Amino acid sequence: MGALKFDAQGWLISGARRSASPHYDERPKDAEVTLAVIHNISLPAGFFEGGAVEDLFLGRLDCNRHPSFSALAGLRVSAHFFVRRTGEVIQFVGLQDRAWHAGVSEFLGRPACNDFSIGLELEGADDTPYPDLQMQAAADVLAGASTALPNLKWIAGHCDLAPGRKTDPGPAFSWPEMLRLLNGRGCLLTRPYP
Ligand SMILES: [Zn+2]
Repeated sequence: MGALKFDAQGWLISGARRSASPHYDERPKDAEVTLAVIHNISLPAGFFEGGAVEDLFLGRLDCNRHPSFSALAGLRVSAHFFVRRTGEVIQFVGLQDRAWHAGVSEFLGRPACNDFSIGLELEGADDTPYPDLQMQAAADVLAGASTALPNLKWIAGHCDLAPGRKTDPGPAFSWPEMLRLLNGRGCLLTRPYP
């Protein structure tokens, strides 16, 4: 499939459902977006249905709904994209704006990765294989984003940005497979790690 197209604010014109999050702000002036960060999330952990992740990113998660949600109370987080295991893509923040996904982080010596990255959350868990449909959809989004953001060239896991604190997207995520899916699509994303 051809590259997905984005509007001037970095919202997908088609191929995604828009669910605008209040959890974002402006990037620093002159910030060049060079990095795509891959995450995983499931709420409750290991549960791959329902709307809890979307509710979290929209700031409307009822933290009494599940015992594990109490730790999320007051948390204001988001990502540019949430790719479900069915391949459905939900966009929460335009690419030009800063989503709140990386937290305390550092990439190639540079701190505060939200400033210069986009965040893509995969519906998943570290040790559960990611379905082909989901990997393909994520690759489509990344290839499209690399067209819309001319300086986007790196792809890394949250685990790479916050080692010791974060483990996602986990050992079940195949970097060779993702790079294979991105290869040959006019897409410059490469991984600076083995
Ligand atoms: Zn993460």
